[in-house]
Formats: sequence, structure tokens, C-alpha cells
Amino acid sequence: MATEKNLPFTKQQIEAIIERHPTPFHIYDERAIVDNARRLIRAFAWAPGYTEYFAVKATPNPHLLKLLAGEGFGADCSSLPELVLAERAGVTGERIMFTSNDTPAHEFVKARELGAIINLDDISHIPFLEAACGIPEVISFRYNPGPLRTGGSIIGHPEESKYGFTREQLFEGYRLVRDKGARRFGLHSFIISNELNRGFFVETARMLFELAIELKREMDLRLEFLNLSGGIGIPYRPDQDAVDLEALSAEIKAEYERTIVPAGLHPMKIFMECGRMVTGPYGYLVSRVLHLKNIYKQYVGLDACMANLMRPALYGAYHHITVMGKEGAPRDRVYDVTGSLCENNDKFAIDRALPAIEIGDIVVIHDAGAHGHAMGFNYNGKLRSAELLLRPDGSVKLIRRAETMDDYFATLDVSSL
Ligand SMILES: *Cc1c(COP(=O)(O)O)cnc(C)c1O
Repeated sequence: MATEKNLPFTKQQIEAIIERHPTPFHIYDERAIVDNARRLIRAFAWAPGYTEYFAVKATPNPHLLKLLAGEGFGADCSSLPELVLAERAGVTGERIMFTSNDTPAHEFVKARELGAIINLDDISHIPFLEAACGIPEVISFRYNPGPLRTGGSIIGHPEESKYGFTREQLFEGYRLVRDKGARRFGLHSFIISNELNRGFFVETARMLFELAIELKREMDLRLEFLNLSGGIGIPYRPDQDAVDLEALSAEIKAEYERTIVPAGLHPMKIFMECGRMVTGPYGYLVSRVLHLKNIYKQYVGLDACMANLMRPALYGAYHHITVMGKEGAPRDRVYDVTGSLCENNDKFAIDRALPAIEIGDIVVIHDAGAHGHAMGFNYNGKLRSAELLLRPDGSVKLIRRAETMDDYFATLDVSSL
């Protein structure tokens, strides 16, 4: 019951990288991302038309989208800029899933222009979409099972969450779009995020399989695809285990054979839209110790802050920390590891046992590859860091430069002061 918190670089290698790219920065391990992507696709090779639409919001960098597209991934987008990112990365047409909510009309227009599959969040969006750009041939609905399922801490319980159609609305919605000319139909549900118990996803698959059978029986509607969505968690803590993808796939396959096949609905395409598990464990936030402070507690002050990674502040999330060159040293000190924001929750770790830290040490924060750089912001005049890609040959490619003061001032008209 453990996950090794290894790094894809040595202290010497990261020091050489820092000489050209000042800290803080995010660095992504290309080889590990590709290996993991291939493993996911291989695990679900049995599933008809299996497609993984990478949830762009996790790591919205076109270099990564292109890398994943090369492995057969599509893109799950939820806004106009995300649609354009996918387009620029060469992902278009039905390789894009547009799963958004509270959607502005012009975003539906762009999604249709790209030929994306539109996954509607609400029954009222049917006439809204029709008015904006017409009802497309292919359409999907997001299902919220309400009290029938429980959720988790990130999205909350389905009954309290803002997303999706009720069960009754699904039937009514499919009738409506069928009358309006839609010919190909999909069903989607996204209930939980960062879940490590694979049983949860098997249960979601079963729920969608059973709904597909009911839709066939009650209104002779043949779904073309089921989108099991994302939410597969990652072992942020060393004492957690990653989801066993092969076992997950085998259990979903067993449900498929028990339900979909005898109902005559085979082949039913299976889609997923994972974000976190695709890039999360393979991105690292690299920073340097600026200050040590000893008051009522001991503080380590980094040159990174919550603007580089806000998950600890937002969710109280654990992120493992490695002090370079001290991997084997006893963790006999207890520190709060902080950033420089004028907010007391700007802490990467609270009461963390670590080796004795000195000013200038390189501190690496693990599992920052999803919802890390992406959640960055400029509060307190913080500038977002660079993103680097560590290539399989050990070289480094700058895939997003760090923001400059000019970027910060770009939206201000100081000439009119
Ligand atoms: C965030 C999101 C995902 C991906 O979730 P992960 O937990 O990163 O796998 C998939 N679909 C939708 C609609 C999302 O909002």
C-alpha cells in the first residue's frame, strides 16, 4: 500500500536546468506522460470506439495537448479559449468534447464550427443551443443522478451540485432533440473527482449502461456512446495506491458484457475524459528556499507561492515534498512550507516532517501536473511561472515562458491616468 515518490531528475540535472530557467517553474515528464497515456488506451482496448478526451482544464498547454493527441487522445473543453487551444494543437471535429455549463452562446457557436461533440448541461440549453447555432446531428447530455449517488469533497453530492439533467429531464431532452433532427446520441455523467476507489467508476459505468438500456426500451433511443468522464484520482500521499487501470477496465468490461451485450446494444462506444490522472503525477513545481523563519513555529519560505499551486490552500490538499540532495536524510524537523502571498493559507504544507532545510535548497513539490499552473492567478502581483517539458532524451523544452511585468500591465491603460 504505497506509491514511491520518485523524481525524473537528479539534483545535478535540476541544477543545470535552473541555470537556464530560474525558479519557480513547472516541469512535466514527457516519457512518463506518454507511457501512462499508452497504458490507459491499452487497458480499454476492448471497448468499442474507446476515446479518452483529455480534460484540458487540468493542464491547458497546447504542447501537452499535441503530445497526447499523438497518442490518440481527444480534448475535453469547457470554454472558448480551451476550444481554441485544442484547435491550435490540431485537435478538431469529434476529437473535441465540449462539456461546459452556464455556457455563453458564442461558445456553442465555436464548438459547432469546430465540429465538436456538444455535451449539454441542462434541458433549457436545448432551445438556447438551437437559437445560437441549431441542433447538431450528434448531441450528448450530462446526467446528474441526484439522491441516487453520493459524491466527494471536490464536486460535492450530486443532489447539491449544479451540473447535469435530472433523470426525467433526460428522457424529455432526448425526445426534444430527436424531434429537432438530432440523429446520434450520447450520455455523460461526472459525479466525483480525485477518487481512488475504482468501484465508484464501475458503479458509474453500470448506472450509464442501465440507463442506455432503459432509453432503448422506453423510447427506442439507441445511444451511440457513453462518456464515463473523468475523476480518477492520483495517490498524492505516499501511503495511497494509484487506481489499477487494468482491473478497472476488466470490471467495466464485465458489466458491459452483463448488461449492454444481452440488451443488443453492442457495440456501444465508451469514452472517458480524465484530466488529473493523465498529467497530475508527472508534473513538478520546482522552487528554491528564500528564507527560514523561527517564531512560534518554524517556517520555510519558498520563491513559489499559492499562485503556482493553489490546491493545498483550496482543498487542504497534501502534496509530497522532496528537498533535493536530502532524499535519504532523516525527516527530523517539522516545518510549515510557505509562499509569499499576504494570505496565511499560502502554505504548501503544514507541520510537515522534513530534513533540516537551509536557505538555497531546491524544494520540489510533487503531483503538480494537473490543476497546478492551470489554477494560477495574479493576486498580490504574482506572475505565473514558466512550464518546461523534460524530453525523453533529458533535454528541456520551454513550453510556456514565465510572465513578465509587461504581461501584468498589458491589461492596464496607465497612459490615461
Ligand atoms: C474536470 C472535469 C473532468 C476531468 O476531471 P479529472 O478529475 O481531472 O479527471 C472531466 N469532465 C468534466 C466535465 C470536468 O469538469
